[in-house]
Amino acid sequence: MTRIAVNGAAGRMGETVIETAADRDDLEAIVGFDVDAGEVAGVPVVADDVADALPEYDVDVVVDFSIPESTLPLARACVDADVGLVVGTTGFAEDGLAALADASEAIPLLKATNFSRGIQVLQRTVREAVRALDSYDLELMESHHNQKVDAPSGTAKTLLDVVQEERDVEPVYGREGHAPREDDEIGVFARRAGDIRGEHELILAGNDEVLSLSHHAEDRAVFAAGALDAAAWLADREAGQYDFGQVVDA
Ligand code: NAD
Repeated sequence: MTRIAVNGAAGRMGETVIETAADRDDLEAIVGFDVDAGEVAGVPVVADDVADALPEYDVDVVVDFSIPESTLPLARACVDADVGLVVGTTGFAEDGLAALADASEAIPLLKATNFSRGIQVLQRTVREAVRALDSYDLELMESHHNQKVDAPSGTAKTLLDVVQEERDVEPVYGREGHAPREDDEIGVFARRAGDIRGEHELILAGNDEVLSLSHHAEDRAVFAAGALDAAAWLADREAGQYDFGQVVDA
């Protein structure tokens, strides 16, 4: 039984992770961390003293869905306590990503911008499509709920990375006014409305056809389930940086 802590426990994803964990018998949510102490779905939530709580609650792996400013000190506490870390938070700057890479030299760390299995398959499909249809125009769209702070989404950035590994294209974030399309660009569009869980679509257009590759999450539980799969998988690993594709392929 893997003992997990949830950082950002009172948030949309944190609460879903705690609720989803309650239905599993391979791991248990022992404690949550957030800015205010309290309780989420029967799990105690502590504030401010993460470094003490990790050994006190005998945590094996922390699952983090918070904000980058919280994840980075959390990673240091995990290193000090020798506890694995699953990072679902998005929106890191380059120095934050470097700090997480440093932490992974001491602890097992798995970071994913999207913990849905369908998005993993979408990434692989996008790579194949961009490679095969190498002259087609590319446009990337994403939609999320109206509380999301980072744009474009971490998942859209990951899909863009996959595209750019295959083709030399420059992102153009929205268009306005006189903005003719160049051959070597990819339009990237972020929509924010209501409670949309997450929609991503890449279109490839040319040669009198349009290929649309899209995914939509129907419930946050899909991300929670994937993050918990990652936590259970990570519990037995050596220090290092892992990715969700390894969990999907396991
Ligand atoms: P949210 O705003 O609902 O929750 C964030 C929580 O973090 C809040 O409860 C907030 O109080 C807490 N927090 C802030 N500072 C903290 C600190 N110092 N210590 C502890 N807790 C702190 O946001 P959300 O919708 O749950 O999303 C959280 C993150 O997860 C975002 O970056 C989002 O993009 C990302 N996300 C990733 C995936 C994925 O599959 N990887 C899926 C959904 C969301």
